[in-house]
Amino acid sequence: MVTTHRIALIPGDGIGQEVTPAACRVLDAVGKRHGVAFSYDELDWSCARYTELGAMMPADGLDRIRHHDAVLLGAVGDPSVPDHVSLWGLLIPIRRTFRQYVNLRPVKVFEGVDSPVRGAELMDLVVVRENVEGEYSEVGGRFGTGFPEEMAVQESVFTRAGVTRVADYAFTLAGRRHGHVTSATKSNGIVHTMPFWDEVVAEVARSHPDVAWRSEHIDALCAKVVLDPVRFDVIVGSNLFGDILSDLTAAVAGSIGIAPSANINPERDFPSMFEPVHGSAPDISGRGIANPLGAIWTAALMLDHLGHREAAAEVEGAIAGVLAKTPIRTPDLGGTAKTGEFTTALLEHLS
Ligand code: ATP
Ligand code: MG
Repeated sequence: MVTTHRIALIPGDGIGQEVTPAACRVLDAVGKRHGVAFSYDELDWSCARYTELGAMMPADGLDRIRHHDAVLLGAVGDPSVPDHVSLWGLLIPIRRTFRQYVNLRPVKVFEGVDSPVRGAELMDLVVVRENVEGEYSEVGGRFGTGFPEEMAVQESVFTRAGVTRVADYAFTLAGRRHGHVTSATKSNGIVHTMPFWDEVVAEVARSHPDVAWRSEHIDALCAKVVLDPVRFDVIVGSNLFGDILSDLTAAVAGSIGIAPSANINPERDFPSMFEPVHGSAPDISGRGIANPLGAIWTAALMLDHLGHREAAAEVEGAIAGVLAKTPIRTPDLGGTAKTGEFTTALLEHLS
């Protein structure tokens, strides 16, 4: 019996178009070994579409994908389109409508990849970022005109339900890993929302007595992640802090081209969305040299979410294998391999 998953495939812009085919090749190959098939509905939602038609996705876009098993996205972004258009025209509506309130970003340093940080080799952590509320809100506005009256106000919105559920996800995840949570805060400077965040996290912690935890101010935490990355297991942070931490930790791991992410709807009443951390990389797109590892590791997260844990582990094993046992690399990791060649080499390490 073959299980077939319906995947909404959004290659997007730039290197998104180059790395998603690599991810699909790996999914198809590993799926074949595990009796799993994927049927991809490819969608042209992108900045290219926005430039042509004035919208990142069709008006009924969300309805078209709400019954799929998952969304797999390459990257969206284009120098000619402001970032907030791709964010608010596509990513944020999908994350919010489908209640993907957890953004999961695992980070580790693979053997054969150099970290810019000495001693980071054993780093193995997951950033759990709150994905639908917090600092990324529409509440606020611009007031007054000209100097000195003009000002901008941006409100953060943290709800008890929102903080509770993401903290609970982080503690549950830590319980399955190394049993430690670090919560990012800034309650010394931000006097309403951050003490509230701390209070709710502490409450959630009480229902996970087997998980140790500590709270760290975001500034000190960033320094510690660089100075001593191996001491972290699960780091939970608000939308903004989690975003910053995940780029920072990805950089410590060696290349943004490797980092995966998952926008998870833990209740599974809507599809989750899987996307590499990197953007559309206009500086290298069209040359076939993008590193597909971020998209491939992302595909492994999707396999895991869809219940195929062994298949997911095989993909991770192939990533580790090709990096440890061969010198084949794309240029961002110091090699000369093309995206397709590297993917072919990786497939040989599926076992
Ligand atoms: P966005 O606004 O979409 O996040 P960005 O320009 O901020 O885009 P990226 O598109 O991720 O960020 O590019 C940052 C740098 O990393 C660029 O120099 C790019 O070439 C490089 N880069 C990103 N992803 C990859 C990849 N998969 N392989 C090789 N290089 C990459
Ligand atoms: Mg960026």
